[in-house]
Amino acid sequence: MSPQYDLAIIGGGTMGLPAAYHAAKTGLRVLLLDPNESPHIYGSHAGRTRIIRKSYYEHSDYVPLLEDAYQQWSQIEGSYGTKIYHETGLTYIGSPSSEVIQGIREASEKYRIPLFNGVDTIFEQIPDEWQTWYEPEAGYLDVQHALTAFKNLTNREKIEFKQESLESWEPITDGFKLIANQTTYRAEKVVFCAGSWTQRLLSAYSLGLKITRQVIAWVATDKNRYEEGQFPCWFLHDPSRGMYYGFPVNHKIRSGLKLALHMPGLPLASPDHYDKEVLEVEKEAIHYFLNRYQPALSNAKIDYETCLYTYSPDDHFIVDFLPGYESKVAIACGFSGHGFKFAPTIGKILIDLIVQGNTDLPIDFLRLRRFNH
Ligand SMILES: Cc1cc2nc3c(=O)[nH]c(=O)nc-3n(C[C@H](O)[C@H](O)[C@H](O)COP(=O)(O)OP(=O)(O)OC[C@H]3O[C@@H](n4cnc5c(N)ncnc54)[C@H](O)[C@@H]3O)c2cc1C
Repeated sequence: MSPQYDLAIIGGGTMGLPAAYHAAKTGLRVLLLDPNESPHIYGSHAGRTRIIRKSYYEHSDYVPLLEDAYQQWSQIEGSYGTKIYHETGLTYIGSPSSEVIQGIREASEKYRIPLFNGVDTIFEQIPDEWQTWYEPEAGYLDVQHALTAFKNLTNREKIEFKQESLESWEPITDGFKLIANQTTYRAEKVVFCAGSWTQRLLSAYSLGLKITRQVIAWVATDKNRYEEGQFPCWFLHDPSRGMYYGFPVNHKIRSGLKLALHMPGLPLASPDHYDKEVLEVEKEAIHYFLNRYQPALSNAKIDYETCLYTYSPDDHFIVDFLPGYESKVAIACGFSGHGFKFAPTIGKILIDLIVQGNTDLPIDFLRLRRFNH
């Protein structure tokens, strides 16, 4: 009996929906499994907005992937007919010796990304010796519109979306047997992009993924100066706490000035059962920022939200075949708190790997062999 599906995509979140969108263009018969209808609040895409930028201080090899992502977001936005990318610009603030300031300058020089020094600071209390750089071709993506666009633009003729959770999987002679909600499916190939749940589904492989809970703050303000059009997205590297980042106010998306501290956080035992209550120490991190850099907002009302990061051992993504299943099983995980902006590119890469066995996009630095797998 031949498999019912050419491909099963496990996880229909940030990376799974674009994978389905690209798979639909190939004519493959696809099964997409996800117990939650995206967008939702359970995994890694909660919080309404995600920053997109090109001066990549984390690793300049991401820049060619970003070029592809920018192009794809623009095409998807055009086809969907609703704004996804908000080009607000992004201000980087930090000491000249900070790894962030040095990293953005390096990426900008290497890839000729427009980046301007000495722009007005956006916060009240910035040390005189710090630098402020501005990247005009940066901004944020609207998560709701982005994920809905992929769903609506995916040709459903040969794709079945099932709101089911993969429970187990195993190789069979001509593919894989998958069990979800007590139903058995057979697929010739599989793509795993189940975010924080990937570790559990692939527990036989030591991928070294670490799941942590993150906190997002929404600071109430009625001042126009924080609104989109007048205020950019921003990164501020605090020498003792780490990287704070934030967005301008857009009342159509959600009221309040959104800000957060990008931090490792406490590892979680399970992405299904974790405490959503925000701890005093997490609230203190937000108050520290406001008191230190923007005292005008230090007494503002703050709402909090939580979201999950899935870190890889070196904070870089994992995009590759699963060891032992080259050309049959592709995985995309460990997005370490910075993956959303790459979603259409990762979707395309996954389908390239499955259909052609390789991709033209440069992903060597994201392959598993860097961990000696
Ligand atoms: C607070 C926060 C801020 C961030 N800020 C940024 C930013 O500014 N810019 C940026 O680029 N990135 C940012 N990120 C990172 C980005 O959002 C993530 O990298 C991205 O959402 C990860 O996508 P994913 O597909 O791996 O996970 P998800 O979007 O969570 O998708 C995983 C899916 O798998 C499904 N699933 C779970 N179990 C199963 C199962 N058994 N069977 C089938 N499906 C299953 C889940 O329901 C879910 O839909 C941020 C993340 C957080 C938490």
